[in-house]
Amino acid sequence: MAQLFDSVRYLRGVGEARAKTFASMGITTLYDLLSYFPRAYEDRSRLVPVAELQVDEPACFRAFVTSTPRTHHIRKGLDLTKLSVADETARLNLTFFNQSYVADNLEYGREYYFYGTLSGDYMGYGMTNPIFEAVEKPGVLTRRIMPIYSLTAGMTNGLMTRSIAQAMDACLADLPELLPRELRERYGLCDAVTAYRNIHAPASFEALDLARHRLVFEEFFIFSIGLSLLRSRRSRQGSRPFTDLDLEPFLRALPFTLTGAQQRAISEISADLSSGRVMNRMVQGDVGSGKTAVAAAAVYLAVKNGRQAALMAPTEILAEQHARSLEKLMTPLGIRTTLLTGSMTAAQKKVARKALQDHAVDFIIGTHALISEATDFSDLGLVIADEQHRFGVAQRAALAEKGKDPHVLVMSATPIPRTLALILYGDLDISVIDELPPGRQSIDTFLVGEDKRARVNAFIRKQAAEGHQCYVVCPAIEEGEDESLRSAEVWAETLQSAVFPDLRVALVHGKMKSTDKDEVMRAFAAGDYDVLVATTVIEVGVDVPNATLMVVENADRFGLSQLHQLRGRVGRGGAKSYCILFSSNRSPETRKRLQALCKTNDGFEISREDLALRGPGDFFGTRQHGLPAFKVGNLAMDLHTLQNAQAAAADFLQSEDLPKRPEYAPLMDRIRALFQE
Ligand code: ADP
Ligand code: MG
Repeated sequence: MAQLFDSVRYLRGVGEARAKTFASMGITTLYDLLSYFPRAYEDRSRLVPVAELQVDEPACFRAFVTSTPRTHHIRKGLDLTKLSVADETARLNLTFFNQSYVADNLEYGREYYFYGTLSGDYMGYGMTNPIFEAVEKPGVLTRRIMPIYSLTAGMTNGLMTRSIAQAMDACLADLPELLPRELRERYGLCDAVTAYRNIHAPASFEALDLARHRLVFEEFFIFSIGLSLLRSRRSRQGSRPFTDLDLEPFLRALPFTLTGAQQRAISEISADLSSGRVMNRMVQGDVGSGKTAVAAAAVYLAVKNGRQAALMAPTEILAEQHARSLEKLMTPLGIRTTLLTGSMTAAQKKVARKALQDHAVDFIIGTHALISEATDFSDLGLVIADEQHRFGVAQRAALAEKGKDPHVLVMSATPIPRTLALILYGDLDISVIDELPPGRQSIDTFLVGEDKRARVNAFIRKQAAEGHQCYVVCPAIEEGEDESLRSAEVWAETLQSAVFPDLRVALVHGKMKSTDKDEVMRAFAAGDYDVLVATTVIEVGVDVPNATLMVVENADRFGLSQLHQLRGRVGRGGAKSYCILFSSNRSPETRKRLQALCKTNDGFEISREDLALRGPGDFFGTRQHGLPAFKVGNLAMDLHTLQNAQAAAADFLQSEDLPKRPEYAPLMDRIRALFQE
């Protein structure tokens, strides 16, 4: 019998290749597999008489095969297998494309369960490629509520479902119970085994609700406890208060006057720095709200109080950009500033690191090269993480460990409602910059379909003719399974050779070597290209003031907040800027979601909309906040459960003895694993 932590290789039908596919989805053990929850469900439990099937509505029905299946070879690569089926209410023609094995598996005169979607027009009704199972066989694909899993290339929903069914048979009973009985009874939660069984193979929609409720509670409960632990750990830390809080020279050196919101954020920071407690603050502000100036003020104070400061950026380009502008500001103020990135030569890095150690440098700007072993500070007093959603809690902590309880400031361009921020970033205090510097123009945004392709191309050409530049963002890198997705590689090639042979088109994507990526970006920034075809690698921080047009392909594939970030790449210079969202998705929800972007340029409003319309999903995924992502919990839908879980967590933490009891040991282990104590 297999154990919970055995490899998925144990499963029938899973060899080396499939194990690799599973691994690429983060699944190596049977436990991982059981913890991979469906993203949706299809109701195949209700049987519909053939006469009552509705066009475009997938449904399950039971019918006899009433003709021998016949396969017709239409042309190379196209075989059609046709047959008819019937129940006592009606007859129906079925067609299978390139599935000639169907002829062997569907027998004249026998009865099967089918699941498919009726199509029909004036020529008559029919069904293409339905799923089927013999009535004597147990229902795996029909007669049930079917789980739908997120998949990757090489993985099918059927394989996933079968593998999980096997894993459940093998070791569901060994599942650790993270919520002891007394807690489950108090909050009306089912046990772990029942929850896992019904999340994967729900006996009914009621059973599914119960399973989900328990798992959401568990997730929020663990999250709340983990956050409280993080919080309590920091509040114990004292810190030598900064005494020199005079910002006058800094303000005089700034090339602009701070906005009220920037001033507020800076006063909050200064209060932290002089409090005698370690600062743990997040500055949230929309793209372009001027977070860098706020960070710079903090750096100024740290250095004036004799300490060193470090600013960590997620990409080399961003680090270099910051170094360029901040060095200009800091040097006249007597602050010695330097850069440290992975692509510098070993000798250059050594010089920078030596200077840090000797305190010959006050302020260092860099990439994660800053957290490498080799980097040592003389007296690190302040660490700043820019675009924090690109860093995890662990990376932030690693940088902070370079000093003796340094103050921590994180900058985020993903504004979220304050109430949620308090929950999600519970280990941080929050300053909000809710005001843009004066004179910012809004970026006109349009949602268009393929019928506008020629006009958009003409518009790109017009921008280029005026000496401006354009981004074209695609959801995929290479041509993949899903043909409806525009691939950056293919599209760059098409644009260059067929659409804009006279313009200079460049390509940048996440699979390129980072030095190649940076080179393309630098060349684009220098004006060497007119059009940059890219994936979302350009989402963060790139500052090319001459770029005036952002075109997003398959815009429905992106989250609203992400689109807003992408849009923030234009409108950074004086010229009028535009954003064009291509989408052929007709679903009303999708259109409503994308229209929200056309209506407003306010990041806070957009994130509220994002949250209300699609739930947290990626929005609160690991990428966005560096904390464990919610797999089942949805902060928009499950607020009530969240409140219960928070109350339960508070009770739990107040009790001296509960965390020490053996029945809570699996829970404590999980919390420690997630929050990396
Ligand atoms: P973000 O919040 O996206 O990091 P930045 O700090 O990069 O924004 O600022 C965007 C631009 O706005 C920069 O060019 C910066 O110099 C400018 N800026 C910032 N604050 C002000 C201000 N108070 N008045 C005018 N311009 C400002
Ligand atoms: Mg910034």
